[in-house]
Parts: sequence; C-alpha cells; structure tokens
Amino acid sequence: MARANAAYYARCDPFADFTTAPEISQIFGELLGAWAASMWAQMGAPDPILFVEAGPGRGTLMADALRTVARVAPDFAAALRVHLIETSPRLRAEQAARVGSARWHERLEDVPAGPAIVLANEFLDALPIRQFERLAGAWAERHVAGGAFVALPCANADDGAPDGAVLELGEAAQTWIADLAARLVRDGGAALIVDYGFADPQYGDTLQALRGGRPVSPLVEPGTADLTAHVDFSALAATARAQGASVWGPVAQGDFLRTLGLEARVERLTARHPARASELVAGADRLASPAQMGTLFQALAVTALSLAPPGFR
Ligand code: SAH
Repeated sequence: MARANAAYYARCDPFADFTTAPEISQIFGELLGAWAASMWAQMGAPDPILFVEAGPGRGTLMADALRTVARVAPDFAAALRVHLIETSPRLRAEQAARVGSARWHERLEDVPAGPAIVLANEFLDALPIRQFERLAGAWAERHVAGGAFVALPCANADDGAPDGAVLELGEAAQTWIADLAARLVRDGGAALIVDYGFADPQYGDTLQALRGGRPVSPLVEPGTADLTAHVDFSALAATARAQGASVWGPVAQGDFLRTLGLEARVERLTARHPARASELVAGADRLASPAQMGTLFQALAVTALSLAPPGFR
C-alpha cells in the first residue's frame, strides 16, 4: 500500500477521485486558521512559530487558513513560517501556486525543531496498514501474492474474535503520531488531526480503493487508485499520551466545527456574498451534518501539557 499510494499521489490527480473538506467549503480552512491563531496565543505568542501541514493536497486548507490569520491575527501571520510535508511533486506544485512562501519536506522528522502548530486533514488515512483475518479459530495476516490476497499464519494472540473478523493495524500512523507527540512535548505546540475513522477499536475491512470516484479492487492496476483505510483514533490517542502529550477528543467533525463557530461564519459570509448563499449553506451542511461528513469524520488534538485547544468541550 505504501508504494502503490506514493505512485498514485505522484502521478494521478487525487481530486478527480475524491473530494475533501477544504475543497467543499472555504470555511473549513478558515476555522482551522482561527484554531491555530488561538493555540499560538495560548502558547505565549512565540516568534517564530512553525505552521506545519501534513499532506496539504492542493494547498486549499493552508491558503484559506492563512487568509483568515492575516485578518484576525496579524501578529501570528507575521510570526509564522509555513512548512508543508508532501511527497508528491505534482501536488507540491499545486501547493506552491496557492501558498506563497513555504518550505517543503518529505517527512515530519525533516521539519526543523521549534514550537509548532500542525494540521493534518485526511493525511493519516493514506498511510499503509496491515490486515489480519480470523480463520478457523486463528489469526492470519493478509499479504499480496500474484495479484491476489493470501492469508498466512501469524503469531497474533488469541482474542476470541469470531471467524471472518478483520483486524487492521496502522503502524505507520502510530509511528507518525508518536514522533509528533514527542516533538510537541519537547518543543511546545499543538496538532489537529481530522480524518475518518473509529473513535473506538472495531473489527472490519476498511481498505478502500477509489478510481474516478468509484470503488475498485485495491489489487487491480496498483498505483492508479487512491488507497485509504479508516483511522483508529483510540490507538492514536493512546500512543500520543504515552509520549507525555495531552490528547483532546476525538469529537465528531460536525460538533467540532459548530463549536468553533461554523454557523456564525456562514451567516457573515452569506451577508457579504448573498449570491453565494446556497453554496455556502450547502457546503457547511456537507461538512457538519451527521448524514454526510459530520460524524464519520473526527477531530483529535494533541498538545503540549499546558494547552487547552478550542473545539473540544
Ligand atoms: N489534506 C488535503 C489532501 C488529502 S489527500 C485535503 O484535505 O484536501 C492526502 C495528502 O497526503 C496528499 O497531499 C498526498 O500527496 C499526501 N501524502 C500521502 N502519503 C504521504 C506520505 N507518506 N508523506 C507525505 N505526504 C503524503
């Protein structure tokens, strides 16, 4: 999955296959920008401060966030240095077109030390997972051989799961959040992770491949479909806590955005741009309504111990 997804993001236009919150509504990035400004103030307004995004896609979220920050928190705008973590050269070019001054990195470890505010929307779901399947009373691990899934015996402990249960292990996401949490504890700062996934551990096969907006087999023409899996938020939270960080949430995306002022922002924008009223209302509804992205998507914050991020009542 790691190599197939790297090839996919390097060669293909992912936004032909799926859309994301910042592409649906400018308000998403605006509220996250205000969230970041609030964290910066709580941190004691460090200057400089690293403003980091992992997997920035088209750069829309960061551009919307920076526009808001310039307006509501000019001191933060002056202090921040944008660092983008992106492996795809094609998406780096799109990000450069929307975000003026940024530095790019392949990995979180490459971002220079120092206090940081980190955003990651739909990043962790793109990282590789391992899958285990319960067969005849024992766990087997799914591998790929000859273009098909094969299940090979493995040493997982017997947890009494029923036959047919699928267990997913997101080791890459765990390593990532452990590094992130250790960094925030060491240098100060806060991170906001938004993604789709489970608040509590669950069995189930969530590996999904999308090509042209349609589900396809993940094994056909690898590198041409977007591969994702649900994020296990309870495992992420436990890993971050083990590094000594504070963890907030997960809370449903809809609740998070409403607490940050989603409705008030829709009203202000529609008052200023009446012709866009229906688009703005529909976009906000898509982000927050439980029938759409409001509960499937979750927000999780990881912070240095002294901080209390907004949006997590
Ligand atoms: N956050 C954006 C894009 C989500 S798509 C949005 O909300 O619209 C996932 C993003 O993560 C893409 O930018 C992709 O190129 C990037 N990405 C995927 N795997 C990565 C990895 N291992 N390291 C860095 N970036 C990665």
